[in-house]
Amino acid sequence: MSELTYWCELAWLPPGEVAAGVVVTVGGSRITAVTPGVAEPPAGAVRLRGLTLPGLANAHSHAFHRALRGVTQAERGSFWTWREQMYGVARALDPDSYLRLARAAFAEMALAGITCVGEFHYLHHGPDGTPYDDPNAMGHALVAAAREAGLRIALLDACYLSGGMGVALDGVQHRFTDGDAERWAARAEALCAAYDGAPDVEVGAAVHSVRAVPPEHMRTVAAFSHQHGVPLHVHVSEQRAENTACVEMYSATPVQVLHEHGVLGPRTTAVHATHVSEADVSLLGQSTTYVCMCPTTERDLADGIGPARAMFEAGSPITLGSDSHAVVDLFEEARAVELDERLATERRGHWRAAELLTAATAAGHASLGFPDAGTLCPGAWADLVSVRLDSVRTAGGGASAGGLGAAEAVVFAATAADVHSVVSGGRQVVAEGRHVLGDVGALLETAIVEARGVGV
Ligand SMILES: [Zn+2]
Repeated sequence: MSELTYWCELAWLPPGEVAAGVVVTVGGSRITAVTPGVAEPPAGAVRLRGLTLPGLANAHSHAFHRALRGVTQAERGSFWTWREQMYGVARALDPDSYLRLARAAFAEMALAGITCVGEFHYLHHGPDGTPYDDPNAMGHALVAAAREAGLRIALLDACYLSGGMGVALDGVQHRFTDGDAERWAARAEALCAAYDGAPDVEVGAAVHSVRAVPPEHMRTVAAFSHQHGVPLHVHVSEQRAENTACVEMYSATPVQVLHEHGVLGPRTTAVHATHVSEADVSLLGQSTTYVCMCPTTERDLADGIGPARAMFEAGSPITLGSDSHAVVDLFEEARAVELDERLATERRGHWRAAELLTAATAAGHASLGFPDAGTLCPGAWADLVSVRLDSVRTAGGGASAGGLGAAEAVVFAATAADVHSVVSGGRQVVAEGRHVLGDVGALLETAIVEARGVGV
């Protein structure tokens, strides 16, 4: 196994401190040694300028939503009118065009320092709901896309059975459904088997939401997660309308329904949790359910602001996701968790930079079934994300101050454009700000024009 040595000007090391002159040795896809306090790069070492972080984990993504950026933001309306436009793209995709769109979207993520994506996948079947010859053709396209873009993937295969609580499926939603949870599980089993032993792919489960999965089917999905020891993700209370309908139907909030049907727990991630009660916060926290905040999507869709700090204090680790990809920048998601909380409470200083970086790295990876990633230590995945501290955005917070404030500069001032080098699983995916696939802007343009062809 060949070894590579990197010398980081500054690196963010456990338990959340910035250290200077850090030598990181990599063998294959793993870190083999981390040595801080080395003043000069050893001979043959690759020099990484700025602050080097472990890989970022994008814990909630729908790759195809990337095709909506720029065309849906200016309109009036709500989450529900946006959803109609999103369905337009969903109608148009097939496994080949999905591969091209997802590969470009994942490459954009790699450029932003993301080394692992949690792809919440519900676009399973052909245009009229008929399964493809391989019923997992769309899932395979996502895995191929992630691999080509240089990311690990948690493919969170979603069960989706109804168009709303007590509402039949309509139009494109037929592409999302397997009919019942048993048939969903059979298809997910085949997907699991296809990636058995693949270290870069975790096949997980998802309950789309209380809107799309009747409670009697939830236990089957949860059982799949427990049986395989894999993540279970679920959209929860993104919109007040979901809560209202749920209380009307089940006399319980969405979080309560999930709790009563065995969906919450330490393998589970509740995505959004925007409109939750104090009792909901306790149920999520006591079950150590992760909560994935997606602030740039939540602001774009006028969802609201979730009580992230209260959920964290109650016991829920916080993770971050770019969800609809209105923005792909986990630094922006991280600082938005703090800044949104300021707007909601009219007070500052709810989160430390190290806590937000943990959400973007170790917690996100763990929620996706990669507990051995998101930290710079021997044995962990060799993901090294280097961020410039000399750009117009970040200058003043880095080496000139002996590293003091480097983590704060990155969390509160850096953007994805400041990421200049990304090593993902030992492979250099981004160097000098360029992705190995070349011009990612052009890849996105081509794939999005194709995806929108008969859509939006
Ligand atoms: Zn989502």
